[in-house]
Amino acid sequence: MRPFHYTRATDQPAAISAASAAGSKYLAGGTNLVDLMKEDVERPSTLVDITRLTLKDIHPTTNGVSIGALAHNTETANHPLIRQNYPLLTQAILAGATAQLRNMATNGGNLNQRTRCPYFYEVGMPCNKRDPGSGCGAIGGINRMHAIFGWSDKCIAVHPSDMCVALAVLDAQVKVAGPQGERTIAFTDYHRLPGDTPEKDNNLAPGELVTSIEIPKNNFAANSYYLKVRDRSSYAFALVSVAAALEMNGKRIKQARIAMGGVAHKPWRALEAEKVLIGKDATEANFRAAADAEMANAKPHDYNKFKVELGRRAIVRALSRAANGGAA
Ligand code: SF4
Repeated sequence: MRPFHYTRATDQPAAISAASAAGSKYLAGGTNLVDLMKEDVERPSTLVDITRLTLKDIHPTTNGVSIGALAHNTETANHPLIRQNYPLLTQAILAGATAQLRNMATNGGNLNQRTRCPYFYEVGMPCNKRDPGSGCGAIGGINRMHAIFGWSDKCIAVHPSDMCVALAVLDAQVKVAGPQGERTIAFTDYHRLPGDTPEKDNNLAPGELVTSIEIPKNNFAANSYYLKVRDRSSYAFALVSVAAALEMNGKRIKQARIAMGGVAHKPWRALEAEKVLIGKDATEANFRAAADAEMANAKPHDYNKFKVELGRRAIVRALSRAANGGAA
């Protein structure tokens, strides 16, 4: 690992000021950043430790819940407000990583974790995300874990988070503070598709700090489900995951929200599938029609063509479980 400076911020303005300097990065749980530094992928000149900032609170708001950026994933998943009102988020967080990692990882860090594309981690290989303009090792390489939606000829990586897939269907908003003040970003606008600038994972400006995630009230708690399909049952990233949330009126679907993980550079809202379901009965035939509508737009690569059928089946199963109150 290369030498770096370390500073511990005692308040938010000091943290933002320190992290706004070129080469500086925020350090919270460190579960991804430190690994990347060990692999020589990330080379910050200064780490700004923000773990002493008061951004750990999870509390009710007039319109839902506010989740501190520095609350750990474990305490977020197990908080009574989340378990009771947003069980989809609990399921998604607990599907990620391992208990030890979830104990260390923060919510802000979960949003800002970087892709696990193996070519990104291997500094001897070309990678436009790590080294813009160098090429993409995964295009024409081993791309079994890569994107089938929204990719570009510069990058076909996927976002690795489970938590973020759930947040994409819960109409969450991300509060950030930076050198220019505070602002709120709709969760679905927080992460980016790769386009010509795959080095940018999200729309944060330099020095901006995630302070909280706001989730509005909804009527999805009784009919939501997070399904993660992976190579082994723990400590594996999704081949495909689906967060499904339904608001039911008897057997009729009043509102539907679906997002997919493991398929795009950002949590992928399955808007085509959602459109098919509004006002329809919750039947397997309608779930299949919704899945077909979404997966018709998939563009797989040499080694991940299986994700198209897997995604179709995962959407149907997640919707069936959601409609059934989470039961099989
Ligand atoms: Fe790099 Fe993206 Fe290509 Fe992976 S898919 S090698 S992260 S440019």
